[in-house]
Amino acid sequence: MRSLKLILALLVVAAAVWTCQRAEREAPVVETAEDLTLGAAGGEVAIDLADPGAGLRGVRVTLSHAEGETLLLEREFAGDLFLGGALNALTLRPRIAAESLEAVQGDAWLRVEVRDWSLFANSTLREIPLSVDREAPEIEVASGLTYLREAGSGAVAYTLSELGERDGVRVGERFFRGFAKPGGDELQRVALFAIPPGSDPDLPVVVVAEDAVGNRAEAGWATVVKSWPLRDAHVTISPAFLARILPRFDHDDDADPAAAFDDINTRVRAENERRLRELIADSDTQLALDGALQQMSGSMVTSRFGERRAYFLKGKRISEAVHLGYDLAATARARVTAAAPGRVVYAGDLGIYGKCVLIDHGLGLTTLYGHLSSLEVKAGQRVERGQQLGRSGATGLAGGDHLHFSVLVGDVYVDPIEWWDPEWVRTHVQTALE
Ligand SMILES: [Zn+2]
Repeated sequence: MRSLKLILALLVVAAAVWTCQRAEREAPVVETAEDLTLGAAGGEVAIDLADPGAGLRGVRVTLSHAEGETLLLEREFAGDLFLGGALNALTLRPRIAAESLEAVQGDAWLRVEVRDWSLFANSTLREIPLSVDREAPEIEVASGLTYLREAGSGAVAYTLSELGERDGVRVGERFFRGFAKPGGDELQRVALFAIPPGSDPDLPVVVVAEDAVGNRAEAGWATVVKSWPLRDAHVTISPAFLARILPRFDHDDDADPAAAFDDINTRVRAENERRLRELIADSDTQLALDGALQQMSGSMVTSRFGERRAYFLKGKRISEAVHLGYDLAATARARVTAAAPGRVVYAGDLGIYGKCVLIDHGLGLTTLYGHLSSLEVKAGQRVERGQQLGRSGATGLAGGDHLHFSVLVGDVYVDPIEWWDPEWVRTHVQTALE
């Protein structure tokens, strides 16, 4: 008798629990933005759904406006009336395509309807106001005719109608970011850019601007790009040089020194270049340049920018690389000084560049000093033009004591010769930016 009562009591409790869970009156929860703005190209919207009680049963997302309704997404979720649904929470990311937005004139809403597996079939309807911003930023380019050259640099000033996600200069597929013009409001912009060595002189050079919702505009100006072919150079490698270099790159017991050299000259070089791009990615917003870059004093040029080098060992071609800087030799352990004021972003070992200093001069302009024997600055330190950074040497992938000097605009190496020329800097950079 007692056990029957107990069983009955348990059944009553079980029925009560079942009823509570299956007959809950909590409507599903929809969490998303309070209102939405999309660009003409459309975009994705994140919607969080939850129903902790009976579980989610179905959802329907539509775009509704005066001209009609477009179904964006409809889903049903497994479950049954006795056990409920298996899914209690879900994030949806419906994509609203450009075509769906074309018909939208005036007010529009994103409608999210969600149902649950409760015996009461609770549902929630959220209507999120949606507007379409079709207006691309307007760009007014201030510069006139600009003479450029392959492997050379340029500067441009422009004004935007609105500040958006990003703006700058596009050269072919490369992008050079723009910065607020010093002393102006933030809609007045300046950018340095480069014509990558070996590129097509016909490639487009345009100012681009993209607003926060993805509307994009481009504006060109009159440019003339002179072609500047790379020069071929033949570099003979000696076994003695290899014997000195390979151990520096953990290649000392290699059976094939020629392959080991090629590995350093290609794979290690590419790795070092990737690291270097990370180090210089965050440039200062003001150009710290008071005239031309200063060339190492009393130095002799032993190799120029843009040599397409083929390396030979005992008459056999073993590797190749393009030399993207100047080699400057003075005396051994000569003073190496900053080419312009700036901020040291790196001072340390950098693979093929050996002991290396990188200085950020702002607006994406960087100078590199490689193969040093000693360093006298630290990352983060501000330096003046002519301030000693260290002494020349032959660290990294270097044969004799010299300075490897490079200039980068954005992440593109450019010929330093323009930046060493006060007349070029005045007419092509300072005038353009003012
Ligand atoms: Zn060099």
